[in-house]
Amino acid sequence: MKECIYCRKVKEESGFSLEHIVPQFLGGSRVPNLLKTKQVCKICNNNLGLFVDASFEKSFLVYSYLTEQAYAFYDPDNPTALPLRCFGTTDLSPPHMVEGEICELWIGPLGEQIIWIRPDDKRLYWYSGGNPRTVKSKKTRAYFLFSDQSSKDLNLSWLSLKNAFEGRRVKKIICNEIDVAADKIGFDVSDDIDNDRIEYFLEKCTNRQERRNKFSLYSKYDLRFLAKLAIGVSFSLLGEDVLRNDYMDELNKALWHKEDDPLPNINGVTAFNEDNQHLKSLCGYKNATTIIVFPTHKGLVLNLNISQSANWVIKCAEIPNNNENIINNIGEGVCFILFKPIQKCITLSLPEFIEHKEGISLNHELSEIDNMVTKGNDYIKQLLSSDEKKLTNKDKIAPSRNLILLLHKPSLNSGKEGLLKFTFLADLESKRFF
Ligand SMILES: [Zn+2]
Repeated sequence: MKECIYCRKVKEESGFSLEHIVPQFLGGSRVPNLLKTKQVCKICNNNLGLFVDASFEKSFLVYSYLTEQAYAFYDPDNPTALPLRCFGTTDLSPPHMVEGEICELWIGPLGEQIIWIRPDDKRLYWYSGGNPRTVKSKKTRAYFLFSDQSSKDLNLSWLSLKNAFEGRRVKKIICNEIDVAADKIGFDVSDDIDNDRIEYFLEKCTNRQERRNKFSLYSKYDLRFLAKLAIGVSFSLLGEDVLRNDYMDELNKALWHKEDDPLPNINGVTAFNEDNQHLKSLCGYKNATTIIVFPTHKGLVLNLNISQSANWVIKCAEIPNNNENIINNIGEGVCFILFKPIQKCITLSLPEFIEHKEGISLNHELSEIDNMVTKGNDYIKQLLSSDEKKLTNKDKIAPSRNLILLLHKPSLNSGKEGLLKFTFLADLESKRFF
């Protein structure tokens, strides 16, 4: 008999399965074995994956950043499918739509448009691609339109379109005229309903018409996920000693939080509230997801960063007295740098990570990966170069409160580690997770 670290129920040994503390969608299959555990019951393993991990992964912000990571690693010499970008619910209303259906727009790597007509579900409204259970329950239809740029690398375009919706109950219809029979290249044959819709899409979507799309956001999409990650990581690195105390009870409440529950008392900062550009760039790595675990006198801090663009800080545990694992597993801080598209995870101590970023002592593996990225980025840029539409510059972000603090107060230690520690502490002291 043993106790599950998430639901805290005591169950037979056979009721447990291997859990990746860092889920696969972040590249968790390659993290050191230390971050895998059999202390999670099968029910939690399945349900939390579907509702907690997916709630985070499929939210618009996270989904977009993770998709961009895949683009950065595209290798023109070894073409693979790239994921589509989700552009929310459109204002299109093609013929034969029935009540309860919505029209979602997705964009392919070379500007291809994919219009997916699928059932709406108010319960998981913020999931890009909808509630996985509802979508599975009914056969849906998706319509594909190539772009002018598709012809520059038809292979990439075609592979990406073919791969989208792979293994799902989706009828895939090509709207453009093509020389071969659609079913010979992995698409379906259109029927009367499709033919009416093709006509509509060709008229409405091929002349750069303005589109008014809608994104849905659940403001607490990340609460349960960050709590789960915090519990899992602190348990894996420090052992059972961290599991029973008031703070862990709050994290547990956060993991099982329902929309109307009172907010648990957790220290940290969510990505929406994190306006500290300095922290985002210092803790993150280009085109990677980083997880930094860092001991402070206020407790163990976990920093999650996606592509230097979104950053979460959460206190993940009280540090138990005389815990030996802290020296063995964390030391001055440990950093997991995850490159999901190439299935790699590089583990460094925090000082090593900072030294690499500062150019003081380069990590050879990271440098190699940086070179790969440049190649992929240049290729995609060149394919899209003739596109007249330029993306507008993002608004400049106002200087952050914490950055100002950093400039005016001396750091606790010398160098960047000190800055980091100071920022983490400022975040932990001044802010609640929500
Ligand atoms: Zn459980």
